Amino acid sequence: MQRAPFSALPSPAGTDARLGLLDLGHTRVETPQFMPVGTAATVRAQRTESLRPAGANLLLANTFHLAQQPGADVVAQLGGLRRFMGWDGGILTDSGGFQVFSLGENARVDEDGVTLKHPVTGRQSRLTPASAIAAQRALGSDIAMVLDHCVEATADWGTARDAMERTHRWAELALAARADASIGLFGIVQGACHADLREVSANTLVGLGFDGYAIGGLAVGETREEREAQTARVAACLPVDRPRYLMGVGTPLDLLEGVHRGVDLFDCILPTAMAQRGRAYTRTGRVELRRGVYSTVDSPLDAACACPVCVRYSRAYLRHLFVAREPLAWTLLGQHNLHFWLDLMRRIREALACGTFPALYAKERTWLDAPDLENPPVPPRRRNRKAKAAPDRASGADDEEQD
Ligand SMILES: [Zn+2]
Repeated sequence: MQRAPFSALPSPAGTDARLGLLDLGHTRVETPQFMPVGTAATVRAQRTESLRPAGANLLLANTFHLAQQPGADVVAQLGGLRRFMGWDGGILTDSGGFQVFSLGENARVDEDGVTLKHPVTGRQSRLTPASAIAAQRALGSDIAMVLDHCVEATADWGTARDAMERTHRWAELALAARADASIGLFGIVQGACHADLREVSANTLVGLGFDGYAIGGLAVGETREEREAQTARVAACLPVDRPRYLMGVGTPLDLLEGVHRGVDLFDCILPTAMAQRGRAYTRTGRVELRRGVYSTVDSPLDAACACPVCVRYSRAYLRHLFVAREPLAWTLLGQHNLHFWLDLMRRIREALACGTFPALYAKERTWLDAPDLENPPVPPRRRNRKAKAAPDRASGADDEEQD
């Protein structure tokens, strides 16, 4: 039985991008698609009902955090995550494997699983390949992820091989634990930035047979070039009739580049995390609302955006909310950013359907990562002349509060 059946059209010439359909029964997810991150059964500062109009139909939730609070059994008792959070779309749950990496010394891996210490409560919990599946079933997830051992993308060959082989052993145990249950299950390809390991990992997991395949262990310390090379390498090893998910990626440009290399699904906290820092992606580049230049600008954040924020509010008002530390700033900027990410995916799907993706790819990649084009950031004066030569790509406005 194939859970979460998926089909994709052949890629046009010159690209590995593909238009696909993932059927979750209650929800049909057209791919490529971006999944907003709802770690604790909420996309940070967003009301659930604002997510569908933004173009979302599949959310990512986190098993480790939800198992701690309110508890997977509590969510199960309340009818599962979809009912609990008032969400009628699909849910994919991370297994807690990423916390093995992100919790650092608070995560201890052994052959049978991982012991995690919650960074806030200090409470210890134990995750095994089987218990991760049980928790994801209790949460009512549509697609579960196997428990994996994620290491830094820059890990040496021996460390990466050990973690990869453990991930494979755990993947077999996860399949056995899922047994006949109807929940979809994705394997996770590991191997850091070592080409030979990535290929071994992809081929081994394909041999085991999953409903989809994730590319894990990227966006954790490698360069853009390394990420793109490993993504393409892994995607080439994966079957055409299973969805491919690039975990934890990324910026709009990262998404476009991932689609071009054959990826169908993405997740990232960036749209809401950037909102918390007063940052917005627009069709005229990245806008940093903390900058004084916006204090009297009466025009929308993005004149070409049809989201409810751009229709109603000015840059000056959004800047005021952010500077005054009003929580509404997170909500409104997050809502716009989610629209931007999801609208890019919609335009990508449209271009794939019309056969114009190669043209869209060539055009969009020239500006998607642009800094503020209408009000270019002024590099701060520094005594060290060398500093002028390297303006920061993503956080360049940190020093430009006053211009
Ligand atoms: Zn907008």
